Parts: sequence; structure tokens; C-alpha cells
Amino acid sequence: MSVSHIGLLCSGGDAPGMNCAIRAVVRTAIYNGIEVTGIKRGYAGLLRGEFQPMNLSSVGNIIQRGGTILQTSRSPEFMKPEFRKKAVEILRAQKIDALIIIGGDGSFNGAMAMWNEHQYPVLGIPGTIDNDISGTEYTIGFDTAVQTAIEAIDRIRDTAHSHGRTFLVEVMGRNSSSIALKVGVCTGAENILLPHDKVVHKKLVDDIQRGMARGKDSSIIIVAEGPVAGRSYDIQNVLKDLYHMDAHVSILGHIQRGGSPTADDRFIASQMGNLAVQALIEDKFPTVTVVQGGKVLLNDMQNCVTKADHNFTEFQKLAETLSI
Ligand code: ADP
Repeated sequence: MSVSHIGLLCSGGDAPGMNCAIRAVVRTAIYNGIEVTGIKRGYAGLLRGEFQPMNLSSVGNIIQRGGTILQTSRSPEFMKPEFRKKAVEILRAQKIDALIIIGGDGSFNGAMAMWNEHQYPVLGIPGTIDNDISGTEYTIGFDTAVQTAIEAIDRIRDTAHSHGRTFLVEVMGRNSSSIALKVGVCTGAENILLPHDKVVHKKLVDDIQRGMARGKDSSIIIVAEGPVAGRSYDIQNVLKDLYHMDAHVSILGHIQRGGSPTADDRFIASQMGNLAVQALIEDKFPTVTVVQGGKVLLNDMQNCVTKADHNFTEFQKLAETLSI
């Protein structure tokens, strides 16, 4: 198949760096004489025919902007085969030969179904702050989210130190440990609670008291949000009710999703966008651009459709050792 016209959309949760990937796709495609149509608001926009022709200047001055200029959405309809059939008909009617999807494992499941059911060429670029997609060591947006959380926690540490306080700081990441672990190591957190950790309150209290006894004047406990945000409040209540220990809660929330992408996110997104177009030119689909062994490569899409919780046991050990 020779590709002369590519469709491009973002789907699922937004992540800083998506714009860098959009820019790289559009510029690489135009460089190779390929037309690009942007599709607004993910699969929902595709089903409504929300198309936007892309040219060199449509992606000017966006490399530094968070979010996504194409916007994104979740589409319950797209979970149903009849709507995926309609989506493929719409793409073929527009003479769009292949679709690039920037999103998470859920979005790749939708794309994989388009390939399996209709042999429609698809290619994924992993974009989510959670770094939780199988088949890749990295997803676009993770580094920026970590950096944003670190900056916020450094500020919290200033006030925690001044008042000799304990803080429970809840970071994003759904069921993924990645953000909590990296942020915990980089902020010198006294404790890190991962999404599936059973909270042992007694140990938490012992750790905090041991630190205070040896002269620490503040404690930061990083709490991964887990499936439901707000679990820090439950921990706060138990510390108060059973151990008479005051802890302050700070839920960082959506500030971790926005902001200007870091150098790493810009660099990896630029390489992934470029590789995505090359892969379509070379008929390598259905695939996903991934990071493996520190390099940007292609992986079969089927390897990237499940959630992965990179469980960096060595980083857990590192955090424990350094926070003694
Ligand atoms: P992410 O891509 O960030 O993991 P979601 O899981 O919300 O985000 O998925 C984004 C969209 O992808 C969903 O709203 C839906 O339209 C589509 N999608 C998700 N899972 C499937 C699936 N199993 N089959 C078909 N489409 C899916």
C-alpha cells in the first residue's frame, strides 16, 4: 500500500508533549509529500466527521504548549463494532489511507479493533502521563508530570519544614506506580505508598516518629492515587483517630496533566511522530512507536494494548535506603 493521506487524532487522557508528536507527524508527512488531516476530539470527533486539514503552519508555535491542539475525548460509542465500522467508512470516504492515534492502551484497543475487523491501517503513539502501557518503557507526558509534581512538593517541603509538619501528598497515575516512585525518590520523600500497597498505618507512624527522633523536622509521604482519588483522606483519618498524629493532605490533581513539556517529552515525542510516518510509508502496521532500551523503535500494536505497572523494585529499595 502506498500512503498518500494520513489521519491523526488524540484519544483518552491528554498529556504534555502530545503537541510535539502532532507537529512531528505533520512536518514529516509533508516533507514526504503526504497529506495530513487532523481529527478533532478523538474517536468521538471521527464519528462526527470533525476534520481539519493540517499544513506546515497549523503546527507552528505548538512545540512548547501542553494539552493537544486537536483536543481529545473518550467515546463510549467506539466500544461498539457498528460505530467502528462507521468510522472506517468515514475515513475511506475521505480517502484517508491510515490513522495515527496518540493515546493510551484503551485507545490502542480501539485501533486494534479497526485493524482486526476492517484491515484498516493504524499506528499508535503512546501518550499518557501514567507511563502504564505494555510494550514500551516510556509514554509521552510522564517526565513533565513528574517534574510538575516535584516542583509542587519542593514548595510543600518548605512549609512542612517551617512548621515541623507531616504531609500526605497524593500524585496521579491511576493504577500505575511510576509517577509516585520517581517523584518519591526525587523529592526525598520519607515514605511512598504505591497504588496496590495495603497501608500499614503503624509502620507509617513508626517511620515518621523514628525520623523526628533523629532530628528530621518534616515528613513527606507520597500517596499514589490508585483507582479512586482521595485515598489520602482515609489515611489522614486513621493517623488521627488511632495514633493521634496530625497529617496534612495535598492532592496535586490535574496540575500534573498540564504545562509546557520537558526536554525529554519534546525529544521523544518528536522522534515518535517522525518514526510513525516512516513506518506507514514502509507498510509497518499495526504498530506502536515505543521506547525500548532507551531507543525509539516500533512494536506490534498487539503488544501494547494492555496496562503495565512497571514495578521498579530497585527504586523502591533506593527510596527506602535514602529516606532512612
Ligand atoms: P486511554 O487511551 O488513555 O487508555 P481510555 O481507556 O479512556 O483512554 O480509551 C479511550 C477511548 O478508546 C475510549 O473512550 C474508547 O472510545 C476507546 N476504547 C477503549 N477501550 C476500547 C476497546 N476495548 N475497544 C474499542 N475501543 C476502545
